[in-house]
Amino acid sequence: MAEGRIIKALSGFYYVQSDNTTYQCKGRGVFRKNKITPLVGDFVTFDLDENDEGYIKDIKPRTSELVRPPIANIDQAIIVSSAKKPNFSTTLLDRFLVLIEAKDIDPIIVITKIDLLADEEVDKLKQYQKDYEEIGYTVKLVSNKRGPELELIKPLFKDKVSVIAGQSGVGKSSLLNALNPSLLLETGAISKSLGRGKHTTRHVELIEVNEGLVADTPGFSALEFDEIELEHLPLCFPEMRARINDCKFRGCMHIKEPKCAVKAAVESGDITSYRYEHYVNFVEEIQSRKPRY
Ligand code: GDP
Ligand code: ZN
Repeated sequence: MAEGRIIKALSGFYYVQSDNTTYQCKGRGVFRKNKITPLVGDFVTFDLDENDEGYIKDIKPRTSELVRPPIANIDQAIIVSSAKKPNFSTTLLDRFLVLIEAKDIDPIIVITKIDLLADEEVDKLKQYQKDYEEIGYTVKLVSNKRGPELELIKPLFKDKVSVIAGQSGVGKSSLLNALNPSLLLETGAISKSLGRGKHTTRHVELIEVNEGLVADTPGFSALEFDEIELEHLPLCFPEMRARINDCKFRGCMHIKEPKCAVKAAVESGDITSYRYEHYVNFVEEIQSRKPRY
């Protein structure tokens, strides 16, 4: 029995990487009784027959799971935002952060296209960088057209399975190409691997980038909060999560409750007012959601 990780699923076969070799496997294990389908990213045990054909026997418990793209055991999501074209938006960034936090995946923020900014615009962006770093996030400012900053983000990928997130045109494909020129992903094109629409059913593959693995399809392309429960939302903001025991009321939603530590922190400037405003908007959005049946 061997152990490995599924890096690709295609036409009923699973491609399992084990000790730098990839084995073509079929799913034939006990997991089928439990109606579990192997996912790209799964750690599995498998048997090999005399022709080196593999049979997946068992799937290890997953630490995380995404539906779009279907991948298990993702360590981190790299949110790519651009400084310009399209303009940087903290509203959109916070939306991605909440969706990723809700899935218990670590977010990393990469802001591209800083070569398009004037000096004073860079200063403003650096203030945002500081704001998000103070919350605990890793934030990198890069230009996909320049080398030195890219060197700084290479280590982020090492030994991790990452999924890339971000609206179209922000430079997701360009970033991966810049980090791994052998990928040759199409950029700026309408039909390209990394930018496929969410309705396209296609195979997913983990590709090697800087000693780590990255999903070749972006995640979190549906930006609605359909799957987030209202009570869970404050936990998706680390600066609120950190104050969970400081509010007077348990389960405080930090809106109208008295003696709320979060509102006090907004007043004192320890929590940025724009993040809090986004939070309030997201609460309203979830409250106005039609009940699901
Ligand atoms: P994606 O849709 O997120 O994968 O974005 P692409 O990688 O296709 O990039 C969209 C457009 O932005 C292309 O025309 C790229 O050449 C351009 N682009 C990407 N990154 C940068 C950058 O760092 N600086 C500049 N000036 N242009 C960039
Ligand atoms: Zn509160």
